[in-house]
Amino acid sequence: MRKDFLVFGSPRIEEDEIQEVVATLRSGWIGTGPRVGQFETAFRDYVGARHAMALHSCTAALHLSMIAIGVGPGDEVITAPLTFAATANSILHTGAHPVFVDVERETMLIDPEKVREYIETECYIDDKTGLPIHQRSRRKVRAILPIHLTGRPCRMDDLMALARQYHLYVIEDAAHAIEAVYRGRKVGTIGDLTCFSFYVTKNLVTGEGGMVTTGDERLADCIKTYGLHGMSKDAWQRYSDEGFVHYQVLYPGFKYNMMDLQAALGIHQIKRIEAYHRRRETLWRRYDEAFQTLPLQIPPPQEPGTLHARHLYTILVDPAKGRDTFQQALHARNIGTGIHYTALHLHPYYEQTFGYRRGDFPHAEYISDRTLSLPLSAKLTDEDADDVIEAVRAVCASILH
Ligand SMILES: *Cc1c(COP(=O)(O)O)cnc(C)c1O
Repeated sequence: MRKDFLVFGSPRIEEDEIQEVVATLRSGWIGTGPRVGQFETAFRDYVGARHAMALHSCTAALHLSMIAIGVGPGDEVITAPLTFAATANSILHTGAHPVFVDVERETMLIDPEKVREYIETECYIDDKTGLPIHQRSRRKVRAILPIHLTGRPCRMDDLMALARQYHLYVIEDAAHAIEAVYRGRKVGTIGDLTCFSFYVTKNLVTGEGGMVTTGDERLADCIKTYGLHGMSKDAWQRYSDEGFVHYQVLYPGFKYNMMDLQAALGIHQIKRIEAYHRRRETLWRRYDEAFQTLPLQIPPPQEPGTLHARHLYTILVDPAKGRDTFQQALHARNIGTGIHYTALHLHPYYEQTFGYRRGDFPHAEYISDRTLSLPLSAKLTDEDADDVIEAVRAVCASILH
């Protein structure tokens, strides 16, 4: 059995990043500055998007994306309940109402047919704007917020077609999916706005950090301004050697800017993004082969023509035998795991505020009750992966018989 505890999602940090952080500290410019600009350019070029704005988190990115398209009280945003709290919380932060629709059981991703069903059975179409209006509440549907859960890209063709038909924006939660490609198009270039996370467990790590990409200059400018107190563009340069520039406050904005200390990690991590992805592909294949014959469900293969970002390797454990027991047994064998996620509508706030009940989203619940994420960081050695495999086999033998 493994001697030390294998921490779930522990990031791989190399000497370059460490040196860059030290150089940043010595430079005297640790807040938003030149390294943030450098990271934005590198990220924008990697994704192939027209604009990329660095922020201090993906949660901030989601919030500002909705601000940028003008979502607020009286509006609705359609998303899936099988996600991290930040996805739906950020909708609530704008004053809008999150509408959950179920996921597909196989892929765990938002089901475009369920989005259509919501619009076509629960809404009528406003004569003037062409927007769907929820019949009972009279709230306007403004956007679809798909989550590329585990790194597998959503059915973007169907979602974009729906959005065009009903004049909706598409904001993608790509916290898991920096490397993902959908039918030849890189995630970050498909929807109106795409939000990425660089939180410690994600595929690219800046400690805390996020990014929005968009092809729309107006939305990009809006995010820049709202992300830094609503001050006029480039106000962050006001103390630079270019001389003090007066700024104007245009909106009551937020304090969501990324620091150079964070970007110092990002500018090196982005260079290794593909090498790390290849490493996780290798680990993924090892898991696939090792777990083939075990009484577990393993992730389905990626759809032809798409690239899975390989963020989370999730197994589904029969809840009658006990997913939580399974997780504790792995923990006892020094293997750290995660649960992505307990469906949001089953959390007290969402249940009590919106009146959701078990049974409302059967596929999300099916996954929520069974899912368990195994370690998949690029930091994992072959020996670490062997330890995970050995522990999963042993726990299967002792519990799932
Ligand atoms: C991590 C995560 C977020 C939030 O990212 P932060 O950078 O921590 O704000 C949002 N959505 C999903 C699906 C996530 O996994």
